[in-house]
Amino acid sequence: MQPPLRSERIACAVAIYCGMLLLPAFARADWLEERTVGLFEVRSEFSLADDRGQSLLAELPELRNDIESMLGIEANDRPIEVNLFGTRRSYQRFLSVRVPEGASRVALFVQGTDRSRVYVYRHRGFEVDVRHECTHAILHNALPYVPMWLDEGFAEYFEVPAGLRASGNPHHRSVRRALLLRWRPSLAALESMDELDEMNGNDYRDSWAWVHFMLHGPQQARQSLSNYLYDVRIGNPAGQLSERLAAQLPEPQRQLARHFRSFKSL
Ligand SMILES: [Zn+2]
Repeated sequence: MQPPLRSERIACAVAIYCGMLLLPAFARADWLEERTVGLFEVRSEFSLADDRGQSLLAELPELRNDIESMLGIEANDRPIEVNLFGTRRSYQRFLSVRVPEGASRVALFVQGTDRSRVYVYRHRGFEVDVRHECTHAILHNALPYVPMWLDEGFAEYFEVPAGLRASGNPHHRSVRRALLLRWRPSLAALESMDELDEMNGNDYRDSWAWVHFMLHGPQQARQSLSNYLYDVRIGNPAGQLSERLAAQLPEPQRQLARHFRSFKSL
């Protein structure tokens, strides 16, 4: 799989969508298909009847199951509306009225009070965007809040097909190159970021790397993540994951680098 263009890496946004809008006719999409699969209400301007469309539809409930089982969380029943546009132009036309601040982005997740909404347009590899944005939607269904860096780290992790998540993410190559330059990503620096626009491509990679380390690394790291998500879920003060990791294992940054030096990726 080709890695997405860098611009797509910083394409998504989390925002609050509320209220009803009276919309001009040009902002309506021409939905060719409307399908419901589990939580997901999929509306598409292009046919989903072919193998690629059917595969995408089948993946959505599997994505939910994978996220829930790997992270020990449970999404609620609030629907996730997935809007698929045939072209970037129709995507931008639609969003320019409904979510104008998101129209310049390549894909979008919007958390509403009634439901979550995902907006993606068809292009080469657009399924990556669908998985990425739907990961945000599932996380925000299940948890009262998710720190931005962790939200993006999980979305980067789950955006590739299930069989590639552990070993075949394009970020593995980038990490291998970074390791040659004494890569020591600071989790505290990622935690200090508040705005999506502050994150560059390396920050997305590093967020993914910390997630990968906590899912596939030492037992103490996995336990730190599990405990953190449990506290977030039940409303306990959760603090910062960097502090939890530092309390559980010595020199987390060194261990992160060691994890990727020894991890066998595809
Ligand atoms: Zn994202």
